[in-house]
Amino acid sequence: MSERYCVIGNPIAHSKSPEIHAAFALQTGQEMVYERCLAPLDEFDATVRALIAAGYQGANVTVPFKLQAADLADRLTERARAAGAVNTLVFNSSGGIIGDNTDGAGLVGDITRNAGVELAGKRVLLLGAGGAARGAVLPLLAALPAELTIANRTLATADALVERFASQLAQDQRLAACAFDAIGGPYDVVVNATSASLLDAMPPVPAGAFGPGTLALDMMYGKAPTRFMVFAAAQGALARDGLGMLVEQAAEAFLLWRGARPDTAAILDRLRLAL
Ligand code: NDP
Repeated sequence: MSERYCVIGNPIAHSKSPEIHAAFALQTGQEMVYERCLAPLDEFDATVRALIAAGYQGANVTVPFKLQAADLADRLTERARAAGAVNTLVFNSSGGIIGDNTDGAGLVGDITRNAGVELAGKRVLLLGAGGAARGAVLPLLAALPAELTIANRTLATADALVERFASQLAQDQRLAACAFDAIGGPYDVVVNATSASLLDAMPPVPAGAFGPGTLALDMMYGKAPTRFMVFAAAQGALARDGLGMLVEQAAEAFLLWRGARPDTAAILDRLRLAL
């Protein structure tokens, strides 16, 4: 019988994960089933236990359950612990639940593999200090940028991230926090990890943050470019949405479950056409 996986969220109908994992399975010749699972808002733990009892091997976790998934897991990977959130669960045959977070690796994979931008020695600006930003800090630092600056509307939250990750710095690496009105630039890479694009708004990032060679990546994705992408492109930056990150984080989860890493490029192209 095919092994079973799913993505748990509420709402979940919009999730593209089943299409992505079906494409991965086809490409790598793996037999697996991947479904959407709508968990009632107050029944995340019970939903996971029911999936385990039904013989599922693992699950992705999306809004609003990523923090609960971290609490539920028996063991967290280092990157999940650093993120304080889990987007991938592995159900062990011994009954234990492993919690991982592949979002940050997906972001770095999209920047380096799909956009072809090397992060080592570069200046990176991360906008936002919420769950997605927190998950991105450790994988970004591991790619060895010379500088990572975190700008957030609530400065104290960005300061707390800097404090949390200060011990993870490589030699000569700089990690700093600032308010939006103190952003300098230009940066080599600017990542919008705020949720402003969800509200068709944009974080108040100054034009000077971008230059002609800047890669500007919005974690949000959709049919139309976000305000952030339009603004960045108007400053001469190369603007990119979060669809590549979505596919790359899925590929990391697939690797964890199935031991095979799919080739994401063709699948990303197909998904974009279907948006
Ligand atoms: P959170 O709610 O945890 O954090 C929201 C962040 O956005 C906070 O830093 C908040 O600042 C900031 N913010 C909200 N509105 C504004 C605004 N108008 N101006 C400036 N800053 C603002 O959200 P998440 O971190 O979970 O998600 C952030 C984004 O990342 C979402 O768009 C989400 O869809 C996307 N995402 C994409 C993924 C992908 O695979 N492509 C994966 C995960 C997330 P403050 O602290 O001041 O409130």
